[in-house]
Amino acid sequence: MVILQFDEEVANLFFELTEEQKEIKQRARDYAEKRISVVQEEDYDKGVFRPEIVKEMGELGFFAGVVPEEYGGNNVGFLGTVLCVEELGRVSASYCMLPTSQTVGPGLTILRHGTEEQKDKYVRGLVSGDIIGCFSSTEPDAGSDVAAMKMVAVEKGDRFILNGTKTWATGGSVADMGLFWVYTDKEKGTRGISCFIVDLKDSPGISTHLIEELGLHCCRASEVAFQDVEISKDCLLGNKGEGYGILMETLGESRLCASTRALGLGHACLDDCINFVKERKQAGQKIGNLQLVEARIAEMYIEHEAARMLIYQVAANKDRGIGDPLDVPTAKYVACEAAVKAAETAMEIFGSFSFPLNMALRRYMNDSRCFPITEGTRNILKLIISRTLLR
Ligand SMILES: Cc1cc2nc3c(=O)[nH]c(=O)nc-3n(C[C@H](O)[C@H](O)[C@H](O)COP(=O)(O)OP(=O)(O)OC[C@H]3O[C@@H](n4cnc5c(N)ncnc54)[C@H](O)[C@@H]3O)c2cc1C
Repeated sequence: MVILQFDEEVANLFFELTEEQKEIKQRARDYAEKRISVVQEEDYDKGVFRPEIVKEMGELGFFAGVVPEEYGGNNVGFLGTVLCVEELGRVSASYCMLPTSQTVGPGLTILRHGTEEQKDKYVRGLVSGDIIGCFSSTEPDAGSDVAAMKMVAVEKGDRFILNGTKTWATGGSVADMGLFWVYTDKEKGTRGISCFIVDLKDSPGISTHLIEELGLHCCRASEVAFQDVEISKDCLLGNKGEGYGILMETLGESRLCASTRALGLGHACLDDCINFVKERKQAGQKIGNLQLVEARIAEMYIEHEAARMLIYQVAANKDRGIGDPLDVPTAKYVACEAAVKAAETAMEIFGSFSFPLNMALRRYMNDSRCFPITEGTRNILKLIISRTLLR
């Protein structure tokens, strides 16, 4: 008989928010409600991204949670970061991607694997929002199967020459820099993948092309094509052939933020539904008094709250340096399923009021569809979980 070995450190499975964490949550809530909701209203259908938001968020410390003080960090950790992402995500599934594309993705990865020069050049700027970041492994024929990538970097003297096309790079058209995973030795399979830091604005041969998307219109993804792009050998992050391991580590962190983005959207659906059922009357009473409607609200809350507790605990454990490989994929699965379901339930509860084009519900519906795809599809998360359990 198999007995699951739950974490021995059960006593550690609790957390308390510090004053700094409470403050950043409140700051994110205020900023999202007062600033982002206003611009999103104007910009969403036009597909406009405002780079100044990156700078403002940087100044408010939204990218500073996971980096040490010497690089501009503010000590709120992963827990503070997810609290912040959740609040941003309640208002905008687009702009709540920024903490990932700035520091949880590129910044933290450079801190872990970069040289002192690389850390000095990029990390403070990513934290402050002076540098806009992105990261990309995906290619047209290499999504879940990273090893199927075709892009290559060939050594030539003290340079690498990059050729190939990345796709779905969030922020790729506006970013100043990005982390890109490419083959330096295809023969070696995943051991031949390396990670490069590329300055996107100063490297001739790079072209970007915005992708027309179903949702997330204020933070769009791009194709990024490289044609004979020459970069210095100093742009290699870590050693040659270490890229795959670096990517898995980066995804381990960015997936936690992906689950929190879903949590934020689920929270918005729940709030809107509660407000609506307390007002809308049918059959001579508020629909919130009808048992079948009450049940839907209860289900939404249960699924949302389960995801929230899981995410906070996983984040708090990360801050303590404990945890399990099952934690993040499980949190992402639970939160993404809850968010997709919450968006659908909201459409149902609002009835015809969900259908006019200008309703936030359309945004919830469309934006939520990305959650079970990005940073690990449903199937891939299940594979990771089952293989970890059965290994
Ligand atoms: C809005 C958005 C933003 C994104 N941002 C980024 C970014 O910033 N950087 C980046 O690198 N990428 C980004 N991506 C790409 C994203 O990570 C990929 O879409 C994702 O990894 C899935 O790859 P795919 O779309 O090619 O699907 P595929 O891998 O082709 O999967 C298609 C289907 O097959 C299933 N499948 C695939 N392999 C298996 C398997 N082994 N076993 C069982 N089922 C399987 C999948 O679950 C899915 O249902 C983004 C995508 C979106 C939609």
